Amino acid sequence: MKEILYRGRTKYQEVEIVVFEEYGLSLILDGLVQSTEADEAIYHEALVHPAMVTHGSPGSVLIIGGGEGYTLREVLRYRSVRRAVMVDIDGELVELAKKYLGRIHRNSFNDPRASVVIMDGLEYVEKTKEIFDVVIVDLTDPYGPEIGRKLYTEDFYRKLYSLTSDKGVVVTQAGCSFYYPEYYQGIFKNMERVYRYVRGYSIWVPSFGYAVSYVIASKNRDPGSMSGDEVDKILREEGVEGLKIYSGSLHESLMKAPAILPSFSTSP
Ligand code: SAM
Repeated sequence: MKEILYRGRTKYQEVEIVVFEEYGLSLILDGLVQSTEADEAIYHEALVHPAMVTHGSPGSVLIIGGGEGYTLREVLRYRSVRRAVMVDIDGELVELAKKYLGRIHRNSFNDPRASVVIMDGLEYVEKTKEIFDVVIVDLTDPYGPEIGRKLYTEDFYRKLYSLTSDKGVVVTQAGCSFYYPEYYQGIFKNMERVYRYVRGYSIWVPSFGYAVSYVIASKNRDPGSMSGDEVDKILREEGVEGLKIYSGSLHESLMKAPAILPSFSTSP
């Protein structure tokens, strides 16, 4: 660790904003690395773009969590997006992100299409009257701090289902399916009880030291049925350029990998 820019406690969590020798500017919450400058694009592009292209031309997007603003940055790349609402429980953390992480979120918070709501994601989902095309759930891990845990339940996904449009898509980060298979499988099954199409995919994030898994669910289009060409066409039409890892061919390969990665097992 080269430099500690901030270390303190908000009402909800322990926050450290540091610069690592190799990974650069990084956010740590309750001792767990959330994102680093060197590889956050892997995590955030893999989180956001499969859901956005599965919808095809999302006009309104809800982000739950995502305090750093990087998920918001990815969503705002799309020409079709008219409104992006980011709901994070921790207002102090969002202020710290604005202050210290600007060169990575590229001032997404100031985009006129973006609004930030400081509220528990579950409470917001219960209260809002708005309908969204895509919902992106970017929370602390399902086996992490208590504040995020109730946002991985079947009940929560039912609530999301009713606030998404006919072509609605939802995606959540689901932690590490290798070390915590029961959490990952629980999320997958909870979504399967609610949505017609559900897929899981994973990608290696070096600073996490594991492959992070995601679960994506859609009302009317199977994300795994899309060809690479179809995905690339949508990215072109939407004016999405300069991505570091995501493309049509990555989309295809993510969706083809086994949904549940092998986990520890001592049986033959
Ligand atoms: N990339 C991350 C990882 O490695 O797990 C997750 C991104 S992000 C920093 C997690 C965010 O979820 C934090 O900003 C935290 O404040 C927010 N959060 C946790 N519980 C929440 C809740 N119940 N409602 C809204 N936001 C929540």
